[in-house]
Amino acid sequence: MTKDQLQLNRRALLAGASASSAALMLAQNSASAQPAPGRAIVFTHTSVFVSADIMHDDVALAVAGGKIAAIGPTDAILQQYPGADIYDGRGKAILPGLINCHSHVPSTIDRGFNEDFGFPNSAHLGIGINQLLSPEERLLMTSVGALECIKAGTTSVVEFASGISDYAGTLAKAGLRCVFAESISDNDTATDGFTPDKLAKDAPLVFSAKKREAGLQRIADLTAAWNNKENGRIRVFPAVSTAGASSPELLAAIHAMARQNGGGYAIDLSMSVAENDFMKRYRGMTPTAYLAQAGFLGPHLIATHCRYLEDGDIALLGKARTIVSHQAVMAANRGASPPIPALRAAGCTIAYGTDNNSNDMFEVMRVALLTERVRRGDDPMPGMRPQPEDVFEDCTQGGAMAMFQDKVLGSLDIGKIADLVVLDTQRANLAPCGRILSAWIHNGQPSDIESMMVDGVFLMRSRKVLTMDESALIAEADKVGKRVWAKIRAAGRVAIPGRPKNPGI
Ligand SMILES: [Zn+2]
Repeated sequence: MTKDQLQLNRRALLAGASASSAALMLAQNSASAQPAPGRAIVFTHTSVFVSADIMHDDVALAVAGGKIAAIGPTDAILQQYPGADIYDGRGKAILPGLINCHSHVPSTIDRGFNEDFGFPNSAHLGIGINQLLSPEERLLMTSVGALECIKAGTTSVVEFASGISDYAGTLAKAGLRCVFAESISDNDTATDGFTPDKLAKDAPLVFSAKKREAGLQRIADLTAAWNNKENGRIRVFPAVSTAGASSPELLAAIHAMARQNGGGYAIDLSMSVAENDFMKRYRGMTPTAYLAQAGFLGPHLIATHCRYLEDGDIALLGKARTIVSHQAVMAANRGASPPIPALRAAGCTIAYGTDNNSNDMFEVMRVALLTERVRRGDDPMPGMRPQPEDVFEDCTQGGAMAMFQDKVLGSLDIGKIADLVVLDTQRANLAPCGRILSAWIHNGQPSDIESMMVDGVFLMRSRKVLTMDESALIAEADKVGKRVWAKIRAAGRVAIPGRPKNPGI
């Protein structure tokens, strides 16, 4: 196969290649999997989890016009919607879709080098991974990440990154509900200082009005291009990278922009000890205190990570009713345990995210439950809090609040948007079970998810993904990954920490 043919095949895999035969086939597959135009779809004789506290057994749920239209006895619902597309819901459970409040979807390419080298990454590779990807290959990585979202039941993602316009179209075409949180900084120093090495020899940061204006313009451009597009499925939030890399002027501008857009805003907060040390040295206070002083905290702020907080920080975040996005898997991976019980008690809303490498929110819920139970080890009876219902509520309703869309997302109340997943409960890892949510959170797997829809449109039905060619995409991405790893190895040995007998990779 020539290089040109290879490129053409790759393009055909990407959602942008609408004229290709592959895209045409996908469109046909998707159309045949959806209810006929104007018809409802009714999930019959099934279990419905309206929210963590409201659950029904042996009912039907109707989706019409992209909304949850009715829930009730199957016979009555079928009479109400004659001619509806029927989805046999026996042995299934319908749940609200999972919401990922902090993702970096294209970072699937980082798998294998980012998980085992601490933070900031100590691997010191001879060459940067992203330098080895063409723009097209980066879109391929985005598609693989979006594919994982769909298969693992994530209906919404808050993508936090700088330069989202490069791959916004790919995420949108995957069919996911998205918030694009475009992150900027007005730090004009060569380094951000947030590593122990850099901190030891660093100087205070210098901020640049020119850089600030350029960043704000980038958010404004992304907002003009994407905010409220795709039937409102896409939103844009302004975001800043960190407290340390933001001047008070930038924080004020971002907060004002969020208010003007009627949406939320986001920041990475106290992700490392070095970040806290840096702020104390150059600002004389913690990152949280600095944000509070700038008037940046509030109920529409997604404060991501919050791993290393002092008691005063927790009180400030709670008083402002800030939303904390907890990346339970990545935090545990980094050996960190954010003070989630104290943040809950102080008044914060807890939501969840994946961060790098993985897009599996199901695993995040399970690890969030387990690690918070460890945190609560001093409870009179350890092992009881949180419950599966609590972490499910964090993920769905907390996530909907983080997206500033809790009136229409996060539960299957009638009139809300039909973002849902269909769970197959007839599985060796789940049966027998009388308490499905508990069985799923403790024993489930992403592959228990049989179908999922966003806006009442199936993105996966009966385990067939409808917005992309799954097997071809994975095969192509794997080829790219192997090439990238070969180049990294050629640039220098990658030593695996703590494995002296191992020659490395
Ligand atoms: Zn992140």
